[in-house]
Amino acid sequence: MYDYLIVGAGMFGATFARLAKDAGKRCLVIDKRPHIAGNCFTDSVEGINVHVYGPHIFHCNDQRIWQFLNRFTVFNNFRNAPVAMHGGKAYSLPFNMYTFNQMWGVTSPSEAMAKIESQKLVLDRPPENLEEQALTLVGRDIYEKLIRDYTKKQWQKDPKDLPASIIKRLPVRFTWDNNYFNDSYQGIPEAGYSKMFEAMLEGTEVKLNVDYFADRAACNAKAKRVIFTGKIDEFFDYRFGELEYRTLEFQTEIMPIENYQGNAVINYTEADVPWTRIIEHKHFEPGNKSKSTIVTREIPAAWSKDKIPYYPIGDARNMKIYEQYSELAEHEQGVLFGGRLSEYKYYDMHQVIGSAMALAKREFAAAQSGTSKVSTLV
Ligand code: UDP
Repeated sequence: MYDYLIVGAGMFGATFARLAKDAGKRCLVIDKRPHIAGNCFTDSVEGINVHVYGPHIFHCNDQRIWQFLNRFTVFNNFRNAPVAMHGGKAYSLPFNMYTFNQMWGVTSPSEAMAKIESQKLVLDRPPENLEEQALTLVGRDIYEKLIRDYTKKQWQKDPKDLPASIIKRLPVRFTWDNNYFNDSYQGIPEAGYSKMFEAMLEGTEVKLNVDYFADRAACNAKAKRVIFTGKIDEFFDYRFGELEYRTLEFQTEIMPIENYQGNAVINYTEADVPWTRIIEHKHFEPGNKSKSTIVTREIPAAWSKDKIPYYPIGDARNMKIYEQYSELAEHEQGVLFGGRLSEYKYYDMHQVIGSAMALAKREFAAAQSGTSKVSTLV
């Protein structure tokens, strides 16, 4: 009998498994895929770590989370500075003095602010959707060239129907600074994410190609408790309806050249280019010496529940459905839920780790004092 059956070997599952092991608990981790690391999985091809399920750049401000991961990997010093292409012209991201200069020719923060001021949307209430949020933040020119069509293509929804919170992720700066993230700690595991996950899961039993839903009762019987990190709607047999996710198709190409686009990430912000961005994986590893290069075009695809879920869509309809599942989850005996799919949150990696740490703290403190509210499975 294990203390915990952890369903999913992604960031939440691996973090919880490690903390449980540190606390002297016995865990079994299962995953329906043939590999660990969930969507962080990297595959080494031609000396390049390929981010198979899309680029993952670690960033956080929390020293505790950074120190935790540094037990399992050495991070490189990658800084994300994506480029947005529109009409054959390149713009710097996130929105900063370089972008304002490329857009309007301005060279000082006061000129850039005046330009935005002259065209921004003024509301007497908080912005209610992504379009309003973007227009109040950066004005019409940037919205129309760099945000509107990219967002529509990416989410397959009108920006008016998307939550304002999505665009709040992007910094707007009146400095000449192309670093996409504001965080103190940033980087990518030097040996790839898969190796980092291997180290996190070292000493914990992991079984791959195991589908929890194929025999739920047998899986549950293996442990005192279950940590479930998959889709919460699937866990409850879609009884309140299906939650929507943004999904993607990746077209990956190995090229016999050293450098294809000169940057790790180039966004294509026009409506008539089918991909949202092209990733050139070797540029995530400054100094990579491979003679080849590998690029991936990221193409949004229509969601259906047999596809891989990447991003929860936190609009009103989905959140209403999620709240009903969340209510059930709170009363589910012996099962604890966590991660992007179970909490239905557009989490970054560090937030997933934070959530798993919080659960582990509650769980082990409760177990030690014998006051756990969660009854065990029978
Ligand atoms: N975004 C945009 N243009 C860009 C990059 C981002 O309009 O060139 C908007 C878009 O709505 C996107 C949001 O900013 O969904 C957040 O972007 P981020 O890069 O954080 O998304 P992720 O990398 O997680 O896909």
